[in-house]
Amino acid sequence: MSERKEVTEANGYQEALDTIIKFCLSVPANGQGEEMGFTEDFDFDHDACETECSLLQKLVDKETPMNPNFEEDTCTKSCPKCNGWSIMDYNYTMRAFNYCTDCGQKIDWSDEE
Ligand SMILES: [Zn+2]
Repeated sequence: MSERKEVTEANGYQEALDTIIKFCLSVPANGQGEEMGFTEDFDFDHDACETECSLLQKLVDKETPMNPNFEEDTCTKSCPKCNGWSIMDYNYTMRAFNYCTDCGQKIDWSDEE
């Protein structure tokens, strides 16, 4: 019996995408899967699937928390993805945002005081 971990949001977007990619790779190319029960007119576009999966990978990367950069010369924290300062409200409240308000990268503040 294979153990199947439950995919949750915390661990899961990358795992879910990996599962889909693995499945897509196992699908035979056009006209090559007859012995596996696919009819000869079965049409699966591997290239299109690869393009779509790499698009989804970008989304998964954004949702995977990254530590903020610390800029020593200005003592500020910046987005690890776009290097912008839009991860904190430096103008008014000094509030740390969960996501970069410019690029949407999720920020991991757990190491921060
Ligand atoms: Zn950003």
